[in-house]
Amino acid sequence: MIPIAFDYTLAESADHAIALLGEFGDEAKLLAGGHSLVPMMKYRLAAPAQLVDVGRLDDLRYIRQENGHIAIGALTRHHELENSEVLETNAPLLKHVASLVGDPSVRHRGTLGGTMAHADPASDLPAAIMALGGTLVAQGPNGTREIAVEDFFTGYFESVLADDEMLTEIRVPVSTGAWNYQKFNRRAQDWAIVGVAVAEGGKGVSLVNMGNTPIRAGNVEAALAGGATAADAAALAANDLTPPEDLNADAVYRSHLARELTQRALEAAR
Ligand code: FAD
Repeated sequence: MIPIAFDYTLAESADHAIALLGEFGDEAKLLAGGHSLVPMMKYRLAAPAQLVDVGRLDDLRYIRQENGHIAIGALTRHHELENSEVLETNAPLLKHVASLVGDPSVRHRGTLGGTMAHADPASDLPAAIMALGGTLVAQGPNGTREIAVEDFFTGYFESVLADDEMLTEIRVPVSTGAWNYQKFNRRAQDWAIVGVAVAEGGKGVSLVNMGNTPIRAGNVEAALAGGATAADAAALAANDLTPPEDLNADAVYRSHLARELTQRALEAAR
């Protein structure tokens, strides 16, 4: 389908983009890699009257080590994460997960800020950022604020970002402990039917596509901290969750996958 008509402005800076968001309010949408927003516009699930293109703000494309954490500019593309030497040394989970997103063309356009803001519970990178205990930096008309990733997602495709705020940076602690990511899909380039990210040998565990948001498996983490085996901790992974149901999997199958993949990830990361 063809999107409904919209106006387009190329932002010259983050400040310019935020000023435009303030001017157009909820009529406007930021355009980063366009790999989630444009399909939604084509299906007419999104119909912004004004697109604000931030995709050329190259000063927000960086991966660097700063005071014990890794700072990643929001416009950094998935393939830059996948090929980053900084991440290989300091947060290899994130580098690996980026390599499993879609196919090369998706990874060359999609951005980390875009995938976080899009807040799709089936996305891979938000769960990795969650397992790592990341923080998001949002800039609005009155300055910046930091948001812990666990407080960021509020529902299906929803986050705490205000209409006039833009993600500018994502931060993760340096994490060199044992890690693993299990992505279950039918074809290599597909979205996860269920995914599980494990950081620091199980101190951070998060689930993909097991609810309306990426989910921190706090019960699994607590059981491991209390001395449970990987199998016993993983048996808790789907407790109290309401997984989505679709043509790929019903809730019972997704719950089984969450337990099985969590056990595999924990055993690989210990
Ligand atoms: P856009 O599409 O440009 O924007 C998405 C949303 O975020 C919009 O609402 C936009 O306004 C908002 N936004 C963008 N940047 C910012 C910002 N800095 N601050 C605030 N709001 C912002 N993802 C996976 O995780 N796993 C997969 O396997 C996978 N497979 C895919 C396969 C295909 C064929 C396609 C098309 C996409 C796939 N994706 C997958 C999604 C891909 O990772 C997208 O790139 C990502 O979800 C969105 O990033 P983007 O930069 O393209 O955002």
